[in-house]
Amino acid sequence: MDLLKEVSGASTIGIGGHIRPDGDCIGSAMGLYLYLSKTCPEADIEVFLEKPADIFQCISKIDEIHTDFETKVAQFDVFIALDTTKDRLGKAEDYFDRAKKRINIDHHISNNGCGDVNYIMPKASSTCELIYDLMWDKDQLDEEIAKAIYIGMVHDTGVFQYSNTAPSTLRAAAELISYGFDFPRLIDETFYEKTYVQNQILGRALLESILFMDGKCVVSMVDKKTMSFYQAEPHDLEGIVNQLRNTKGVECAIFMYQLDTLEYKVSLRSNGRVNVEKVASFFGGGGHERAAGVIMQGTFHDIVNNLSAQIAVQLKETVQKKEKI
Ligand code: AMP
Ligand code: MN
Ligand code: MN
Repeated sequence: MDLLKEVSGASTIGIGGHIRPDGDCIGSAMGLYLYLSKTCPEADIEVFLEKPADIFQCISKIDEIHTDFETKVAQFDVFIALDTTKDRLGKAEDYFDRAKKRINIDHHISNNGCGDVNYIMPKASSTCELIYDLMWDKDQLDEEIAKAIYIGMVHDTGVFQYSNTAPSTLRAAAELISYGFDFPRLIDETFYEKTYVQNQILGRALLESILFMDGKCVVSMVDKKTMSFYQAEPHDLEGIVNQLRNTKGVECAIFMYQLDTLEYKVSLRSNGRVNVEKVASFFGGGGHERAAGVIMQGTFHDIVNNLSAQIAVQLKETVQKKEKI
């Protein structure tokens, strides 16, 4: 995709990302926003995202995001959906649908491309890496853009540790840190550092976790009552599922938090043998082979039972694949 060609001539450009935005979603939206503001100064560019967590305040112009989803633009010339397909754009889905040209840039394997122009690269580490690749004039990159893009890469690769980290990811990261921002501090403050409350809930979730399927799976849940007791927001629960995944012997970790009576947001993480994207897709969600999510209805036990059946299918498939080899 030639992004320059796709946006040239547009006088209004909208940028959106998925609901409950994570580092990659925010980093790619802000990196692209800062970059387009420089390269297309004549265009009116607006970013629509749900309110980013406080840790992302370090990103330049983050307060310019339209977190209220309000705009005076009746129809965008171009609307760019990042890090998701259009059904998780939240309130921006309408702007995307009505835009003259719709562009979809994403790295989720479950995304078939919902735009007029699509750039879906499931092997890419992050949407930020894709945005970096698509920046047609690298001379326009600056410290603030580099920082935003770098944050997204760090978050989606678990600080360049997950298997989605490729040589191209590290090459891009190497270029980005050459702009001189304080990257060790950035990683600490946006990825590792937790508030006291976040650590308390993490501790509680680990304490109450249940090992099952002969120790191959681990599950934990935080209900609404607990969330309101700690005055916790969904973003305070990020990282819990990764900690569960680090349990020795575990192939698949499940973490869920309650959205409503009989409704849970489910996060799945795999150590390689279970394709959790397939498990999540089976229930209408999606993601990647080793990290996926879905919203499910039912009681905690029903959901765990339903997930277990699909995880068992996946475990069997990998055993069969190995036998064939
Ligand atoms: P999470 O468990 O929410 O951290 O999500 C793990 C990965 O799956 C992220 O890349 C998400 O963007 C993706 N994901 C989560 N929920 C969904 C969904 N309902 N549909 C598609 N992708 C999802
Ligand atoms: Mn994301
Ligand atoms: Mn992503």
